[in-house]
Amino acid sequence: MAKERLDKVLANMGYGTRKEVKALCKKGLVLVNGDIVKDSSVHVDPENDTIEVDGEVLKYKKYIYVMLNKPQGVISATEDDFDETVVDILPDEFKIFKPSPVGRLDKDTEGLLILTNDGELNHLLLSPRRHVPKKYYAKVKGVVTQEDVEKFKEGVVLDDGYKTMPAELTILKSDEISEIELVIYEGKYHQVKRMFEAVGKKVVYLKRIEMGPLKLDDSLELGECRELTDDEVQLLY
Ligand code: URA
Repeated sequence: MAKERLDKVLANMGYGTRKEVKALCKKGLVLVNGDIVKDSSVHVDPENDTIEVDGEVLKYKKYIYVMLNKPQGVISATEDDFDETVVDILPDEFKIFKPSPVGRLDKDTEGLLILTNDGELNHLLLSPRRHVPKKYYAKVKGVVTQEDVEKFKEGVVLDDGYKTMPAELTILKSDEISEIELVIYEGKYHQVKRMFEAVGKKVVYLKRIEMGPLKLDDSLELGECRELTDDEVQLLY
């Protein structure tokens, strides 16, 4: 890996601003490969050099992968002038990596959202050619029927004339407010809501529960997040 300035590496890892990192170095609290480094502008290789701050060996990582159980009311963006974003609600230890959401969930949609600063994974998961499946749970106003299941399997025509790819609709409860699970293999704007509109019904609650091989960790409360394990990241690639 290319060498980077020590103050930049430490600031990115959450050890304070560059100025604060400079002060830590001046105090002799930063060691690189066992030697005290008082000049924070030196260049280091964070993947191969052993860097210690105040006795703690730094575990460098370039990428972060976070699973968020997105609550309603926050938007899937990195910044916004009016609304709170999914990045705003992450803990600082994740925010410092500057992750972006992989795709979007509507403001009023809950559930599984991955955030990462790994552009390659972001691209792989969103590439329209890969057809990564996304599974949703929804409450739908109107009685969802077997006929709707067949229509979704065939593809329905959305309000803009687009015919959706085959999707798997499972009815959990067929009633005035029905409960369903739906797997789609593409990600058009408001797709789930518009698919139900195409069959004369209205989604009143929507939650994403799976993306590709990844399932929403049901121990995460709304608004909570955790890092993906190495195995989970491998599954996504
Ligand atoms: N489909 C929708 O309609 N909304 C979402 O947030 C995700 C999929």
